[in-house]
Amino acid sequence: MFPVPTSLSPSRVESFLSCPMQFRFASIEKIAEPPAIHMTRGSLVHRALELLFTRPAAERTPAEAIVALDEAIAEYRTDPDFTELHLSAAQADVLFADSLELMHKYLQMEDPTAVHDIGLELRLEAAVGDLTLRGIIDRLDLGANGELIVVDYKTGRAPSANFEQAKLTGVHFYSFLCNSLFGRIPAKIRLMYLKTGEVIEATPSAQSVRFVTTRTTAVLKAVERACTTGTFQPRVTTLCGSCSFKPWCPAFGGNPDRAAVEAPAVFGAMAAAA
Ligand code: SF4
Repeated sequence: MFPVPTSLSPSRVESFLSCPMQFRFASIEKIAEPPAIHMTRGSLVHRALELLFTRPAAERTPAEAIVALDEAIAEYRTDPDFTELHLSAAQADVLFADSLELMHKYLQMEDPTAVHDIGLELRLEAAVGDLTLRGIIDRLDLGANGELIVVDYKTGRAPSANFEQAKLTGVHFYSFLCNSLFGRIPAKIRLMYLKTGEVIEATPSAQSVRFVTTRTTAVLKAVERACTTGTFQPRVTTLCGSCSFKPWCPAFGGNPDRAAVEAPAVFGAMAAAA
């Protein structure tokens, strides 16, 4: 009933597990959601850090970090992820001030002049059965003993202890991708939570890489089954409150078959009214 995807990103795999119905709307029917301010803030700060790390290590001073943020802001002023938010000048100032705060927090977490990075925004892909798994690594570092360290910036809050393990399961995709491409499992995966200054580290192993392969294969089979039968179950959680597709979700009385036609018009009208 729906075409089976041939490639998935780690976040798409996780989104299928979070809610298959939302996965159908966003990843199978590819209904574009309206931009969200927290997503734009995250992308903006990621871009600023990428620009900072394009400088030679000795030049990555706090002053240069702010220049990098200004450059990223200049780029984003014409980006649909920013323009389609339709922010007032005052709201845009709040967005930029929040981004500046995240940059300051980052500078308290590590000294970028001391980082030996060997890759930025690395787009990696590897085959899992018939599926191509695609992921982007924010930064790949070389540690003091020549070991690989995957660094992932997070602009949201750190997960609570209950959810930490679930989040870490997702990051083991990066070790799988590194191993497939470079033939080496990274020594560490470091998640840097810029909002709170927390760092969560995972130590991958051959076992965790095997686990990702097995798990991804199982998820792909489930995706394939859902596509061929047209059965994507809604999974009601607290995240439903912020789900753009709630009006078309059967768990809330909606008709999912109408989303592809109605949602773009509704999202467009929302953006115009903002
Ligand atoms: S409203 Fe909830 S259950 Fe429905 S699609 Fe969205 S996240 Fe899934």
